[in-house]
Amino acid sequence: MACQSHTLECLDCGRIYEDEYNLACRHEKPLDYASFNKRWCNSLLRASYQDKKLVFEDEPGLFRYGRWLPVKQYYKTESGPVTYRSEGLARELGLKNLYIGFCGYWPERNARTLTCSFKEYEAFPTLQRVVETGGKSLILASAGNTGRAFAHASNLTGVPVTIVIPETARKRLWIPGEAGEKISLICIKGDYFDSIQLAGNISARQGMRKEGGARNVARRDGMGTVFLDGAAAMKRMPDRYFQAIGSGTGGIAAWEAALRLIGDGDYGKTLPKLELSQNLPFAPMHNAWKDGRREIIPEDMPDAKKSIEKMHTDILSNRSPPYSVRGGVYDALTDCGGRIWAVENREAVSAGRLFESSEEIDILPAAEVAVASLIKAVEEGAVDSDEYILLNVTGGGQERLMRERDTSVIKPSLTVNDIDAQLGDLL
Ligand SMILES: *Cc1c(COP(=O)(O)O)cnc(C)c1O
Ligand SMILES: [Zn+2]
Repeated sequence: MACQSHTLECLDCGRIYEDEYNLACRHEKPLDYASFNKRWCNSLLRASYQDKKLVFEDEPGLFRYGRWLPVKQYYKTESGPVTYRSEGLARELGLKNLYIGFCGYWPERNARTLTCSFKEYEAFPTLQRVVETGGKSLILASAGNTGRAFAHASNLTGVPVTIVIPETARKRLWIPGEAGEKISLICIKGDYFDSIQLAGNISARQGMRKEGGARNVARRDGMGTVFLDGAAAMKRMPDRYFQAIGSGTGGIAAWEAALRLIGDGDYGKTLPKLELSQNLPFAPMHNAWKDGRREIIPEDMPDAKKSIEKMHTDILSNRSPPYSVRGGVYDALTDCGGRIWAVENREAVSAGRLFESSEEIDILPAAEVAVASLIKAVEEGAVDSDEYILLNVTGGGQERLMRERDTSVIKPSLTVNDIDAQLGDLL
């Protein structure tokens, strides 16, 4: 393997690894009885890049920030975040320095993220990292924006992916153009948990890498490009970063990007305040953080299943987010200072309307939750009118894209009844 321009550091024990697509520290702690259940480091690994200065690559999309992505080679894509200074929404809210990090489709602004969410910024570097570390293909369970993003990126790059989803969510798996042969879609007659289990069983097969969620540095640093692009547009560190969260991975990514920018030295020395938001009635991290707890307890998500059904968008539901883990959401909020807002469905809907009328583009329900949190923050006097605010519109332009581009729903390669299904040679 050629020399890599990054290493991976365990935030728990400090060990440093060459990147072999590690998703966790392998360090086994000496057994002591106090931490009997915690023999392994419980920490995210963090990528450390040779370049301490932010260098802009001559690339049209997210690989503009390729030096701070855990890959050696870039795939040519226009997919990437676009940051602009808001006029319409800024005027409505009385904010002088509101910047919008737009992730989606909006040709007038050169935004060409064709699956319309920031999950695409995770997909391209992750597939590249799989290949560069000797993997052949990737498997993941996702019935939403992540599945779509990986299907699309696989279609373009030719890196095979297997996506496992509940059969009932099939319609959500559309992509621009037609799905090629590198995508296998497996539908299971079950729920999301069954999908995750089945994906886990299959991933034991040789060469199939797991996507790994927040533990995947390519995922986090890919999402972190929204923050880097925002700071590049402002030419300074944002004072506050607003984003709707389900897992909170994007919030962790913004924090890590901010730490790197502090290392650069040209963007300021103060971390941004993280203004994250969850959608009521399902807001486990909001509840834990409000009580000052590192642990999420069952009382933080009473009636989880029913609550999730009542949400404006279940994209923001996650029952086991990377909140307590070292280097996770709790640490990010503690280090930056910040909070987790809780947003009602009706607040999200009216925020969406205000955004659409003042900025003239449709946005995804999850992004509406972030806009609602910004409105609340302004109404409560929690932000000053001249602060530099980066609002991550994590997804948008989908209605626009549907009118202007051809899309197709991916056909399943296989439908199975349960997680014990015999898959044989079908994969
Ligand atoms: C995944 C997703 C989020 C939440 O991101 P996390 O930081 O992983 O919690 C927000 N908005 C959209 C559109 C998403 O697809
Ligand atoms: Zn460790």
